[in-house]
Amino acid sequence: MFSSRTLAMTAVCQTRVPRNANMEKLQNGYLFPEIAMRQQAFMKRHPEAELISLGVGDTTQPIPRVVTAAMAETCHALSTSEGYRGYGAEQGNEELRKRIAEVIYEDMGIKQTDVFVSDGAQCDISRIQMMMGSNVTVAVQDPTFPAYVDSGVIMGQSTSFKKETGAYGRIEYMRCSPENLFFPDLSATPRTDLIFFCSPNNPTGHAASRAQLEQLVSFAKSNGSIIIYDSAYASFISDSSPKSIYEVPGAKEVAIEVSSFSKFAGFAGVRLGWTVIPEELTFSDGSSVGRDFDRIMCTCFNGASSIAQAGGMACLSPQGLKAMKKVINGYKGNAMMLGEAFASAGLEAYGGRNSPYVWVHFPGRRSWDVFGEILEKANVVTIPGTGFGPGGEGFVRVSGFGRREAVQEACRRLRRLFGRRSVVV
Ligand code: PLP
Repeated sequence: MFSSRTLAMTAVCQTRVPRNANMEKLQNGYLFPEIAMRQQAFMKRHPEAELISLGVGDTTQPIPRVVTAAMAETCHALSTSEGYRGYGAEQGNEELRKRIAEVIYEDMGIKQTDVFVSDGAQCDISRIQMMMGSNVTVAVQDPTFPAYVDSGVIMGQSTSFKKETGAYGRIEYMRCSPENLFFPDLSATPRTDLIFFCSPNNPTGHAASRAQLEQLVSFAKSNGSIIIYDSAYASFISDSSPKSIYEVPGAKEVAIEVSSFSKFAGFAGVRLGWTVIPEELTFSDGSSVGRDFDRIMCTCFNGASSIAQAGGMACLSPQGLKAMKKVINGYKGNAMMLGEAFASAGLEAYGGRNSPYVWVHFPGRRSWDVFGEILEKANVVTIPGTGFGPGGEGFVRVSGFGRREAVQEACRRLRRLFGRRSVVV
């Protein structure tokens, strides 16, 4: 028998801790959970359906042996007295920092000490936001990878979300659409402290040209802003578009670059990335941005996994780079096939050439409706463009990260669904 006292003790206890008001501002149903919910509801109604996901940008191909062998060796060494290592440097192993500086930023004047190795670009974006604090003003491409906005909202950089506009207040959304060649009209963009810029862009798949990036750097310079350049998909570039913001002269004084081994080397689950903060980059009081980031890394992060870093070293060896290129070309082949499937149905499909993503336009339609139609009629999961900002309305994103056979089958279904309309692109 429970006494009333025991019952009182077991009753649900509510704390008196107030919720972070910025968390309350975040929109429910962050994109991917919302898609998963709709997908599950569909499967409940149609348990027999064979769904193909072209949604989440997760990698599917095995990591080349040359890389996993290096990780296995480091892992096994941890079981020996000679090979055991505890904490490493918070900024990353010296050899890996050096190799990133030399291989990825060859001839760009990036020093080993400018490179901070991490557990991924997304984590670095949050840590950069933490360093910048809540008083800075921020601009993002629209559409954009959601982490820049969400981490800014959590930090208190925004006011509340407005349903009518699909945007948070105090954040500058720089529209990037086919009409402006996916590059914002900077003459109409107000000054902000930070400018998040992702190229090749997720979701549009557009790789900014050299001329576009020169404009961006000169805009940041004249406004005294800092660009936070996300090059997570740089390894997918196969034309002459810059792979790094530091290819643009003068960028070191105004840009941070975050990047990742996730898409480049299939490390989405292994977790490894890096951030470059050149020595030349300073705050308005002349103090070093890199020094503050170093402090943040020492406080919030204790160094990337030694096993992952051994993998990173192998990725950047000549053999590793060759093996990685093959995997990336396979994904790009998928993206090209998807682009062609939509284009052959008369739809405008962008991206794919320098990116694993294809951004498809459905003029006059709502992107969640298109998502629903493709799910119901072709049993293919896409991402509704509005998940990436108000500028994504009327678009869906598909990803070339799937397995080849699944992508081929998806293409067949999409051609069947949309049939042959007049060819536009
Ligand atoms: N940046 C962009 C533009 C992305 O699309 C993603 C993941 O999809 C990330 C960063 C996340 O990178 P990481 O896995 O290194 O955290």
